[in-house]
Amino acid sequence: DRRTAQEALTRLTVDVPDWPEAGVTFKDITPVLADHHAFSAVITALAAAGRDDHGTVVVDKVVGMEARGFILAAPVALALGIGFVPVRKAGKLPRAAHAVAYALEYGEATLEVHRDGIAPGERVLMVDDVLATGGTVDATRRLIEACGGTATGASVLMELSFLEPRTVTGDLPISTLLTI
Ligand code: AMP
Repeated sequence: DRRTAQEALTRLTVDVPDWPEAGVTFKDITPVLADHHAFSAVITALAAAGRDDHGTVVVDKVVGMEARGFILAAPVALALGIGFVPVRKAGKLPRAAHAVAYALEYGEATLEVHRDGIAPGERVLMVDDVLATGGTVDATRRLIEACGGTATGASVLMELSFLEPRTVTGDLPISTLLTI
């Protein structure tokens, strides 16, 4: 359940100071992934955001953001019995794609999704490991909307609340297992 997932995340996530640059504490979730019980618990907990109170699946697709989002979103999609769609960094997708540029702390980045990855009217859940500034989730919401889909929300392992990501993501519902 959710409590088990939260405990596993707290116990197994490794804080790496000053990586990839000074001042950033990187949340390394690889020990969570390497532990079958922990991995399974966090996938079940992340997938709960795609169900209503009766357990009915209320989304049509799960989107994962490159790269750690892929590792989490694909098993969430399988757990919900729906498809997975990758959102990738610029230039990686082989076919016609929508692109959205967004601001990073220093500079800019672009994310892309295949134009036919999400059909008009589809409800889409975003899954990623860490919600930091909120820029990635907000850019992905715009990609979903460019396809004609609806972003119903995001489900993440950890939210770095001191970066105030919700000032960027606005009223999008975000489900977080740990708030830091
Ligand atoms: P942001 O767009 O600022 O919300 O950053 C979110 C993306 O960057 C996610 O895909 C995370 O995987 C990654 N990220 C940002 N900050 C961290 C951190 N402190 N530890 C691990 N991943 C991070």
